[in-house]
Amino acid sequence: MTEKDQMLKELYPEDILNIAKELTEGEVKFLKQLDDMLESKYRDSINDHWVNATVPEGFFEEMGKLNYFRNPLLFEGREGAKTPSQLFQFFLSYTVARFDVSLVTVLGVHQGLGHNAFLFGGSKEQVAHYIPKLQSHELRTCFALTEPEHGSDVAGGLETTAKRDGDKWIINGAKKWIGGANVSDVIPLFAVDVETGKPKGFIIRPEQDGVDIDIIQNKIALRIIPNTNIRLDNVVVKEEDRLQNINSFKDIAKILYSTRAGVSYMATGAMAGALRATRDYVTERKQFGKEISKYQLIQEKLAMMQGNLSHAMALSAQLARMQENGEYDEVATSTAKMMNALRLRESVSMGRGIHGGNGILAEYDIARFFSDAEAVYTYEGTHEINALVIGRALTGDSAFI
Ligand SMILES: Cc1cc2nc3c(=O)[nH]c(=O)nc-3n(C[C@H](O)[C@H](O)[C@H](O)COP(=O)(O)OP(=O)(O)OC[C@H]3O[C@@H](n4cnc5c(N)ncnc54)[C@H](O)[C@@H]3O)c2cc1C
Repeated sequence: MTEKDQMLKELYPEDILNIAKELTEGEVKFLKQLDDMLESKYRDSINDHWVNATVPEGFFEEMGKLNYFRNPLLFEGREGAKTPSQLFQFFLSYTVARFDVSLVTVLGVHQGLGHNAFLFGGSKEQVAHYIPKLQSHELRTCFALTEPEHGSDVAGGLETTAKRDGDKWIINGAKKWIGGANVSDVIPLFAVDVETGKPKGFIIRPEQDGVDIDIIQNKIALRIIPNTNIRLDNVVVKEEDRLQNINSFKDIAKILYSTRAGVSYMATGAMAGALRATRDYVTERKQFGKEISKYQLIQEKLAMMQGNLSHAMALSAQLARMQENGEYDEVATSTAKMMNALRLRESVSMGRGIHGGNGILAEYDIARFFSDAEAVYTYEGTHEINALVIGRALTGDSAFI
């Protein structure tokens, strides 16, 4: 057995389709370092952080240190490539999500949505200035699109306005759910130009006059990541801080589609976390004189959880291959997000049931995965909105309205 095979066996024992075999040795080494870091630094405290709604100190900085955009381990055999491989990116999200879904969301809003808002929305100069700093975690970002009254219908429904005044813009309105805005250095925020009626993107800073951010309290899912409300009261933004390539909702949609795959990867990792927690539990918990792992009805549910996971891993890996080949499309992405989130919900429910009463106690990992699955089901396009994308492709009829 090669060193890589040995590492894979320990790192991803649940990968019964041997998908991770397609990773390079360097990528596997990197993922092992990541997993070791998560386990050694945060395993003992993760459930307490969930209960107390606190972010593990240093997580963002630790991820930055791993240098997951530029680490030479990720470019073996693909020297000259601009980004690590898409399959690696699947396993990066998967591995963090398997540990905790809030932490992978902290990462996803920064390196997915936020980073891509600058990458796709910025001018050449803005990309050159921001992208290296975002990739190294020197700067932190998020993504401010959703509003208190507009979630699924943001495409035509944004109420936040931008009014041009010479070489400045005046922004008024409100945003809701924005993950990590309170700890971001720069917030890409979307508002409708009152003159053209089309959305534009602006770089906002939390400390700016007129920006008020508060943390949404009492969430029953993703308690570790702070989601925020942002109020904007005559916030002044210079034209040079407008994301120059965001001039319609189509431009925003490009960012959303590029990161929707990431959410299907997170859903897959969360299924693996739920399976691991449940498998560990059944081998310890005894009823009627023996471990519950020895009962057929328990094994059938574990088998279903493994089956759901294997389906999701295959779907995610194929999505990653399509991205790598430039064949990525909206319907494939919506299908993966919709199905993986649906199967995640089913898996965590089975896992929670298998835990009996302990399954509703936050000291057991399954309770965290069970609750967090609800957020995955809703964000990056709800189940229904992704179904409507697929339905439109199947029938040619748009049924959103
Ligand atoms: C934990 C969390 C983190 C988030 N982070 C961010 C973030 O960082 N940045 C950001 O911009 N946003 C973020 N969001 C917002 C997220 O994208 C929205 O919650 C999502 O788009 C759904 O919008 P909504 O919650 O307003 O639900 P609504 O749009 O009000 O939907 C309510 C229900 O109606 C259904 N529905 C809506 N329209 C239709 C239709 N035409 N046909 C059938 N059913 C329909 C929906 O599917 C849903 O079931 C986050 C949300 C959550 C929960």
